Amino acid sequence: MSEFELIARLRRRLGGIGADRLDLGIGDDAALWRPGPGLQVAACCDTLVQGRHFPDGTAPYDLGWKALAVNLSDLAAMGARPALALLALTLPGDPGEAWIEDFCAGWEVLAQPHRLALAGGDLTRGPVLTVTVTCLGELPPGTALRRAGAAVGDGVFVSGTLGDAAAALALWPRRAEPSLAPLLARLTRPTPRLALGRALRGLASAAIDVSDGLLADLRHLLAASGVGARIDADAVPRSALPEQLLGADAARACALAGGDDYELCFTVPAARAEALQAAAAAAATTVTRIGSVVAGPGLEVVDRDGVPVSLDRAGWDHFRA
Ligand code: ADP
Ligand code: MG
Repeated sequence: MSEFELIARLRRRLGGIGADRLDLGIGDDAALWRPGPGLQVAACCDTLVQGRHFPDGTAPYDLGWKALAVNLSDLAAMGARPALALLALTLPGDPGEAWIEDFCAGWEVLAQPHRLALAGGDLTRGPVLTVTVTCLGELPPGTALRRAGAAVGDGVFVSGTLGDAAAALALWPRRAEPSLAPLLARLTRPTPRLALGRALRGLASAAIDVSDGLLADLRHLLAASGVGARIDADAVPRSALPEQLLGADAARACALAGGDDYELCFTVPAARAEALQAAAAAAATTVTRIGSVVAGPGLEVVDRDGVPVSLDRAGWDHFRA
């Protein structure tokens, strides 16, 4: 079974229990729950496993940062404001005082500005260093951004630049070279787009965060919305370094299919395009239009001349990759 077949099985088998208590269950970046009138809670969970989600040699500071960042990114994709986190650590042995201090220092950088409470967690010994974080965020009921909602004619946008993290992973053996530092920072210390996510409430018709690669994640959004899209591969915003270091083709593949960007991909109706630019400026985040929603189904990727682009790796699936 693929990762998504497994999730679908769990959803079919168990997702019906208590489903009426939720506004939104399995299938989006976070679930939505309304504990009482006037408040909606977004809940998400992500695991990082050594050797799978972060390479051996990742600094504990970066691990603390990234374990929280990937969860905050899912809250950003819902437009939620972070409230609390639970942290489950599986460690092969006593990591030592310096390790835990550095882990906390990385976590703290992201937690402090949001006053995100570490409310609890779990600690076990196990074979592989594994960090699991559950995050809860809050938002006004009915304002959440979902993967469903994109409509034909909407623009498709992404925040920031894509492909830096995948390029950094490809160049990991050269990580000691000072010139690679900006790329490595994108891999190990991603910036969750929380301010942008909140600014997109009422503007975006659908949203997802880019964790598994732009094309793979955009496909999830399109499937949830029941539409297709046409994307200009050359419009996808990239920084200069991946192309300088890896060449044009590899840099483009990193931007389209590489993972770990933690940018937002979202759709906006044409009538709100101007308001979007103002909202993005207020959130101090660049946003770039990369294509349009079409009746579909499916995702068509072309270059600037309209010629179809083919890619051999369209995203990340834990049980197929
Ligand atoms: P994301 O990349 O945004 O974290 P995933 O692709 O990991 O999302 O998961 C897709 C959906 O499936 C999410 O709604 C997630 O909560 C749900 N999901 C993933 N794993 C499980 C599981 N073991 N049990 C129930 N739901 C799951
Ligand atoms: Mg997500």
